[in-house]
Amino acid sequence: MRISIAGTGYVGLVTGVCLAEKGHQVTCIDVIEEKVQAINEGVPPIYEDGLAELLSRNIGTHLRATTDLAQAVQDTDLTMIAVGTPFDGQEIDLTYIRQVAGQIGKALRDKDGYHVVVVKSTVVPGTTQEVVQPIVEQASGKRAGPDFGIGMNPEFLREGNAIADFLNPDRIVLGGIDARTLDALQALYAPFEGVDQLCTTPKTAEMIKYTANSLLATMISFSNEIANLCTALGGIDVVDVMRGVHLDKRLTPIMPDGSRVVPAFTTYLEAGCGFGGSCFPKDVKALIAHGEKAGSPMPILDAVIQTNARQPHQVIELLHKHFPSLQGVRTTVLGLAFKPGTDDMRESPAIPVIRELLASEAEVKAYDPIATHEAEKLFSGDPIEYCDSIDEAIADSEAIVLLTRWPEFESLPRRLPGGAASNGHRGPLVVDGRRMLDKQSVAHYEGIGLSGLHD
Ligand code: NAD
Repeated sequence: MRISIAGTGYVGLVTGVCLAEKGHQVTCIDVIEEKVQAINEGVPPIYEDGLAELLSRNIGTHLRATTDLAQAVQDTDLTMIAVGTPFDGQEIDLTYIRQVAGQIGKALRDKDGYHVVVVKSTVVPGTTQEVVQPIVEQASGKRAGPDFGIGMNPEFLREGNAIADFLNPDRIVLGGIDARTLDALQALYAPFEGVDQLCTTPKTAEMIKYTANSLLATMISFSNEIANLCTALGGIDVVDVMRGVHLDKRLTPIMPDGSRVVPAFTTYLEAGCGFGGSCFPKDVKALIAHGEKAGSPMPILDAVIQTNARQPHQVIELLHKHFPSLQGVRTTVLGLAFKPGTDDMRESPAIPVIRELLASEAEVKAYDPIATHEAEKLFSGDPIEYCDSIDEAIADSEAIVLLTRWPEFESLPRRLPGGAASNGHRGPLVVDGRRMLDKQSVAHYEGIGLSGLHD
């Protein structure tokens, strides 16, 4: 099938290379010329495991990039919309969606034959049919249904695992205004044999995406609220609490041989310094705002956001327990990306933590395996010393805060000066913002949801 994708960010690019890998002819469109050029040269503008390899394998054969949206629409049968849908502080910002819908509509005016327009961006329920469809109709002078199809196909990939998730999806949700649109969407996903498919309306497809993200965000904030109570009460470790909760056979089913199935789901029921990224915070806020507008307030999701906003501060509180003033304290931040496997720092808990450290005049060194360049942009001009390795970052440190669950940070205990538990000399304080280390493996350890702040 010949496909064009408007918007070549995380979702657009990953979708493009993966659909090309599956044998479709794909044209990626973006307004940023350097991005288009880099892609045509086989250089991925973002980091994702496996992306560079798939891009270089398909570019020039099954995949190309362009800034010419009108031509791309002319040359293809189906156009996906994968532009950003930020939250503007009040509601979802559909500026890019509206712009691109108008451009696609204009291109369709000059095109003979049937075309399908599919929204892949995350948009609040109703957007595809109440915003995108009328704009395309007006700009094209054609009618949705007989002249062109309108669909909604939410994306569930997780940054850091994007390629693997796209190539091996757990579900494919297809929303279409009619059978012809759904047929086209099913043809698009025909190479994904054996994957559960749900065919529905665009509005339901839109709601599925928000509900899925809101559920996961709720589980995280729930776990963090429990962790904070453990901290307030003292003498309880939230990791032990959650272990006991996870043993519920409804969460971790017991197999006939007595072993347990541990669903990935349970990783959202762990305490930490909060969720970030380009999706959970903005999507939950957008759904709350949409609920308000519809006269259906969402107090649970309100609390999810509030708890999450407070959570990075827990790391600072744990530092304060040992350093009443952070002024001049040599502090190392391990992990800048909002999660492992990505260089994305959007809404990363590292941002508020570093801001608080800088405001307290701590001396800040930072290390992340791949996100340093993003931090340099975000904190340009701030006195942060970026390091090239864990060892360089922790040398001479008085306090280490661990903010991203990068696997290489598991080696921290044996890298600490004097080893894990040197006699009498406790070494630097380690504040484990992800509860990823064995608390016994570090002599001077604090973790979210572990000990009382005032012990
Ligand atoms: P992004 O900001 O990384 O990329 C958007 C791209 O669209 C940019 O490159 C921008 O230049 C381009 N663009 C804007 N206007 C354009 C136009 N008129 N024509 C062509 N290109 C245009 O965004 P993203 O992270 O890929 O997210 C896209 C959508 O997918 C959002 O709605 C997001 O919520 C959703 N989503 C994201 C993820 C994720 O993990 N990032 C996962 C699932 C869904």
